[in-house]
Amino acid sequence: MSITPIIGQDTLQKFIFDNASVRGEFIDISATWREVLSRHAYPAPVKKLLGEMVAAAALLSANLKFNGTIIMQIHGDGPVNLLVVECDAELHLRATAKLASDAVIADDATLPSLLNASGKGRFVITLDPADKMPGQQPYQGIVPLDGDDVSTVIENYMLRSEQLDTKLWLAADDNVSRGLLLQKLPYHGGTTAVETAPLTEDEALETWNRAVILGSTLKQEEILSTTIEVLMERLFWEETIRVFEPLHPSFHCTCTREKVGNMLKMLGRPEVNSVLEELGQVGVNCDFCGQHYDYDKVDCAQLFATDAPVEALIPAGEVKH
Ligand SMILES: [Zn+2]
Repeated sequence: MSITPIIGQDTLQKFIFDNASVRGEFIDISATWREVLSRHAYPAPVKKLLGEMVAAAALLSANLKFNGTIIMQIHGDGPVNLLVVECDAELHLRATAKLASDAVIADDATLPSLLNASGKGRFVITLDPADKMPGQQPYQGIVPLDGDDVSTVIENYMLRSEQLDTKLWLAADDNVSRGLLLQKLPYHGGTTAVETAPLTEDEALETWNRAVILGSTLKQEEILSTTIEVLMERLFWEETIRVFEPLHPSFHCTCTREKVGNMLKMLGRPEVNSVLEELGQVGVNCDFCGQHYDYDKVDCAQLFATDAPVEALIPAGEVKH
């Protein structure tokens, strides 16, 4: 069991216990995370939550092996209105947060105080397939915000919606977003990954429990200050584990002029016309990457002249008045 780290590259490392009872993934995102942060100035607690969601979205994307984009959102009813992370099958990530205009955020603010102040916060996972059939809608799961931190919210979601026993340990600061995911594999009558004596169901459960206890020894400071190679060695040195080829997440924004145009069409002609009258053109900034798009009168007339279907899952940006 060893990982050869590629210095400076973000890494997702999958592994499986050799007795096939537990699988897991470590994630270490720094360059991608700094790309996200370079475009926004978020208060520290918002950075922490969004960073943990970035790690979690990549972990789930690799875990669910879904060919498409996972969009993970927390809709808040407090000082934070929205946290969004998107991750596609190639582990291309982008993320953004939307704060209430009058938001006052203390350094020690927690997830419930920021996003679930009156219990109306929602956790939403959308699975948007890469090769959609015509008219096919993305799958969307919406649940109440059940948990005091990002990992608990996701664990509860996975148990309820996917019937999967999943544990997550996540941490993020200004520089890194790291995490560990462990998942209990279904018991298949003692089939093993290697030629050892078959496991009994009790032994498989014991292995899972032991792995979770080991994971639970991780403190956030330790996750933030330790590479995943060292964390893996430290936690599982007594276990027989197989590691897979590492994957490499990266920052990538999917905004295009066409998608922003679709968003303007969804806003409707009256709203767009009123901005045109006032400013002579409509300017839109992508919330994820900051890219600026301008639409003059001719561009806007063209937008509303075509009958192309409007296809925009979430608004790509905000019209600047
Ligand atoms: Zn963008």
